[in-house]
Amino acid sequence: MDLTKRQHQIIDIVKENGPITGESIADRLSLTRATLRPDLAILTMAGFLDARPRVGYFYTGKTGSELLTEKLKQFTVHDFQSIPVVVNEDVSVYDAICTMFLEDIGTLFVVNNDANLSGVLSRKDLLRASIGKQDLREIPVHIIMTRMPNVTMCYKDDLLLEAAQSLIERQIDALPVVKEVESGFEVIGRLTKTNVTKALVELGRDQRL
Ligand code: ADP
Repeated sequence: MDLTKRQHQIIDIVKENGPITGESIADRLSLTRATLRPDLAILTMAGFLDARPRVGYFYTGKTGSELLTEKLKQFTVHDFQSIPVVVNEDVSVYDAICTMFLEDIGTLFVVNNDANLSGVLSRKDLLRASIGKQDLREIPVHIIMTRMPNVTMCYKDDLLLEAAQSLIERQIDALPVVKEVESGFEVIGRLTKTNVTKALVELGRDQRL
């Protein structure tokens, strides 16, 4: 976040004199309390300053990058996940390829007849199966998918940062967001590298940081 010259002056005053009232800060800058109000609001919201009723403003000691990290650590998978696209494990590789194109998606999640997660299909899995002379309409996806228990999953309340770490460590593009049910795992979302990129853009756009 780029602070204005006046906002830097306010921080310096509060650093040296805090806790200090808004009135006193205004006096020191020869400004009115009303003129100062938006700046104090910005600095408080961004976490540089904190305000206590009847005490005044004090400096939190947090730097811009500490505040950025704090915000990042508040993001959960739920805040950025997308809608999942699932196929049954008995559909053919041909149909899965069509679904991937129609849904404009890079990873399909595969479910069994109880609607529980049984595997994952990536673009490369489908390409690999397409090399050769097999009839793609005859091969069910469960033959070629990455199957449970080897599927890396995440939960909606997981930290986005942890899910992103899994994507990098496992060198994969997407994680199914699951909910544990009696018979297995129900797929309730999809977390992709694009979702993580969106979080990064949101952080960069946050005017308060
Ligand atoms: P692509 O193969 O299109 O580059 P990925 O890098 O996501 O896409 O997939 C690489 C391999 O990892 C594929 O064989 C795929 O089945 C598998 N895979 C993808 N996502 C997961 C996941 N969440 N858990 C386990 N394996 C996965």
